[in-house]
Amino acid sequence: MYDYVVLGGGIVGVSTALSLINKHPDNKILLIEKENSFAKHQTGHNSGVIHAGVYYQPGSLKAEFCREGLKETISFCSDNNIPYEQCGKLLVATNKIELQRMYELHERCKANEIDVEALDQKQLNEVEPNIIGIGALLVKSTGIVDYKLITKKMSEEFESKGGEFLLNSEVVNLEEDEEKIKIITSRESLNSKYLICCAGLMADRIAKLLNIKINFQIVPFRGEYFRLPSKHNNLVKHLIYPIPDPDLPFLGVHLTKMIDGSITVGPNAVLGFKREGYSKFNFSIKDTLQFLSFKGFHNVIKKNLKSGLYEMKNSIFKRGYLKEVQKYSPQIKLNDLEHYPAGIRAQAVLEDGSLVHDFLFAESRRSIHVCNAPSPAATSAIPIGKYITHKATEAFKKLS
Ligand SMILES: Cc1cc2nc3c(=O)[nH]c(=O)nc-3n(C[C@H](O)[C@H](O)[C@H](O)COP(=O)(O)OP(=O)(O)OC[C@H]3O[C@@H](n4cnc5c(N)ncnc54)[C@H](O)[C@@H]3O)c2cc1C
Repeated sequence: MYDYVVLGGGIVGVSTALSLINKHPDNKILLIEKENSFAKHQTGHNSGVIHAGVYYQPGSLKAEFCREGLKETISFCSDNNIPYEQCGKLLVATNKIELQRMYELHERCKANEIDVEALDQKQLNEVEPNIIGIGALLVKSTGIVDYKLITKKMSEEFESKGGEFLLNSEVVNLEEDEEKIKIITSRESLNSKYLICCAGLMADRIAKLLNIKINFQIVPFRGEYFRLPSKHNNLVKHLIYPIPDPDLPFLGVHLTKMIDGSITVGPNAVLGFKREGYSKFNFSIKDTLQFLSFKGFHNVIKKNLKSGLYEMKNSIFKRGYLKEVQKYSPQIKLNDLEHYPAGIRAQAVLEDGSLVHDFLFAESRRSIHVCNAPSPAATSAIPIGKYITHKATEAFKKLS
């Protein structure tokens, strides 16, 4: 009988497992992952940005965890010799509407206590001669890192403190009774007093195994990238982001310096037809039928038809994608867009078609589920892990 089992070896699950063993060093704690190593899904397919928290609703969990997460991620990297760089980020306005939105974002940064500087066209040109725009916000604290490396380090620390893990073990069923949760995996069955589920793209399916009433479904949104050839590695000194359209759910195609020195372009946001299928042509009948039969999905399409079609067109035709980047970086040409693997976002969608923006949790008596952990959940993984540990510890006390 385990005291705690954590399901899911992405950064959120591994950070939670580590936080649990730090809090309860004498407990028996197990981490279960269906793949042959950690960070195989969202955690291993992202932009690698340590976000500062510019965009988030003041007072939301996202705003709070991101602010805390930036500090904690950097401190974890320093303590463990993991390379990171606080290269800063520029949000570039390319027209008057974006300039107005930029000023609104500036106010939001202040509300979120983020150190930010507004640059005019001349100042932008001085700091980034290869970028065009009529103004920009400079967020100096934003950084870059490899989240796979952080997850690996956390899993090693978890193990060194007595934590156990099972790889290649897919949880296929869960049964909760008065005394325990029975966890049935593809390889064996085991029991735990408490269960924490951090299943990313499978979050809704795992919650349903315990008959938890949920009012959302996970809809997969692909994020497709390109990499620039190495001759462009010094094109920019900062991360370059567009000013996001507040009516659209994702941030827009950006230029991201990666910690290995390369620069990626992306990600866009297009509907995925397979939750964990990374190639453009991957298709799963089960995954597709599931979102097609969900009322919320049809409402999302209704609400975002125009932008959805536009993103899809740019996904098929590279030239459209290129146009998005050339708005602020005209020297990037079509043959500069080299292949780079896509990522898939686990986005919780409500029945009315709204996308859940904040982190979302659900509970049963003996379990807690991370139902929505979109970006910046990699940045925020350490505070999320501590938050879950606190919640789980309190729930556990009530059981005994
Ligand atoms: C394209 C893209 C770009 C992003 N960019 C950034 C960024 O720059 N900065 C940032 O902070 N965030 C970013 N994010 C968000 C961030 O990557 C995710 O929010 C974060 O990785 C979520 O971690 P997770 O542990 O919840 O999920 P995951 O990493 O997806 O892990 C879930 C794990 O659960 C396992 N699992 C699922 N079902 C089962 C089962 N039945 N049995 C056993 N195991 C199971 C899966 O195999 C998986 O390993 C980005 C995301 C995407 C997709």
